[in-house]
Amino acid sequence: MTYRVLVTDDVDPEGVALLVAEPQFIVDEVPTLPKDELLRRIVDYDAIVGRSATRISADVLQRATKLRVVGRAGVGVDNIALDVATSLGVAIINAPAGNTVAVAELFFGAVIGLLRQLPQAAQTMTAGRWDRALYLGRELKGKTLGIVGLGRIGGEVATRAHAFGMQVVAYDPYIADARFTALRVRRAPSLDALIAETNVLTVHVPLTDETRGMIGKRELARLPSRSVAVNMARGGIIDETALLFALESDQLRGAVLDVFTVEPLAEDHPMRLAPNLLLTPHLGASTVEAQRNVARDVCIAVRDALLHNDLSRSINVAAGSEGWAELQPAMLVARRAAAVARAVLADQGMRTVRRLALRVSPELAHGSGPLLAAAAAGLLEGVIETDRLNLINARSLAEARGIELTVGESSELGTRRSLEVELSGGMQQLAVAGSAPEGSVARLTRIGSFHVDVNPKQTLLILTNKDVPGVIGRVGTVLGERGVNIAEYHQARLAQGGDALAAISVDGTVEEATRRALLELPDVVSASIVHFRAD
Ligand code: NAD
Repeated sequence: MTYRVLVTDDVDPEGVALLVAEPQFIVDEVPTLPKDELLRRIVDYDAIVGRSATRISADVLQRATKLRVVGRAGVGVDNIALDVATSLGVAIINAPAGNTVAVAELFFGAVIGLLRQLPQAAQTMTAGRWDRALYLGRELKGKTLGIVGLGRIGGEVATRAHAFGMQVVAYDPYIADARFTALRVRRAPSLDALIAETNVLTVHVPLTDETRGMIGKRELARLPSRSVAVNMARGGIIDETALLFALESDQLRGAVLDVFTVEPLAEDHPMRLAPNLLLTPHLGASTVEAQRNVARDVCIAVRDALLHNDLSRSINVAAGSEGWAELQPAMLVARRAAAVARAVLADQGMRTVRRLALRVSPELAHGSGPLLAAAAAGLLEGVIETDRLNLINARSLAEARGIELTVGESSELGTRRSLEVELSGGMQQLAVAGSAPEGSVARLTRIGSFHVDVNPKQTLLILTNKDVPGVIGRVGTVLGERGVNIAEYHQARLAQGGDALAAISVDGTVEEATRRALLELPDVVSASIVHFRAD
């Protein structure tokens, strides 16, 4: 299988080389394309890798029938129509970690530049002057640094602040105490408490409904007098109007902004002339090393997504990346169980599934999201076109069909690492259970009330019959005559002479004519065939 990858926007050559080195890839490197040309060319590609200049708009995505992955060498994905990509099953992969150090270093460069008035001093030197007495600066040592958001960048800033002899305190309600302890950072109980004692305030949070304008007039007014405020995260987290006011009224000693509500900043924006405001044009990630890091990170992730279907680094995949590989066998079981339940119910005349309820044993509870996505994908495979169905969009596609999806934990499933998918609609329902024990192959362990033990590989035949002698032999003969090779045959019954169920794992595919032949056998009540989608 050959994949075509379009690389654009001057992605660093070290990343591109990783793609070019793959024998299965044909890589075309082009400069940033005008929209009409991108629309024309995108139909040929399985993946596109770029930076922020190329807009991956809804029409580009809708046009791109082969596209599976969009790689963004950088963090922001504002240039990508994320919802449309998700609904089309296109994975979006970015590189959030490679520029962390670049931002942290710029923070200290800029704050020291501000406190020592370096830009102004350098300008006077260029102008031929020697204004030594004018520039009396301030030191970082002994000052309190208040960090809002102790994530990747906040953490790197904290580590470096210790070297400058600063006191470090942070506010981040979403992370555990352990990270504060490891970084030797004091935890502020609230944003107000942090602000009350901060001399240098810096925000390193994403832009969300909660963080937009989180440092406004009130917060700036509560900072100790002559503090410094820094925003290198996203424009608008520190309210720009409030900041201008605080600078002009001399409340603040100064401020640094690398990011703006509207970028590029308007030529005549009043902030350009504000006192003691050091402005940089979104330079946080602009180092050679950061560009190389993000290019490498994203190209590796795009490669793995295409070659190994590894979507763990996709930002629109159904769940986080932790434990993704370890969850794969259980996800396969969830998917297969749902496919089996759907096929059996369909053969009983129930095609409209209203509800999918997944129950997982406690060891799998951490993977509820991906497991539910896998079950939803199993339910839909064979129902809708599968080339657009994947773990990214399965849940939303199922919900768009009015299917209620639920997931819960249960300690009553028997074995470790087991799960159960129950489908219901109208008066009918069917639960199929399975397990994915560590170091062993995944099994289906129950279909309805029947205990089975079968590895759901290529094709599964599910027969219900009367528990009378000779059925297994006759079924074996029908399959043998039609060249169907049995991998596993598991016969289960509820009571001697009562109802029985056979779960038969076979190689290859099974024709509808074979199913009919099985149904004609005496004592066979129903026969369902499930062809599992290749993974
Ligand atoms: P991250 O996800 O590693 O860390 C963000 C932290 O913010 C998390 O720990 C989270 O718990 C915390 N947080 C979220 N909401 C919060 C809230 N309401 N109050 C307090 N804490 C909250 O992100 P990161 O990689 O450190 O990036 C931080 C910011 O820097 C992002 O906005 C990112 O876009 C920006 N960034 C800017 C540049 C640049 O060029 N200037 C470059 C890279 C990243």
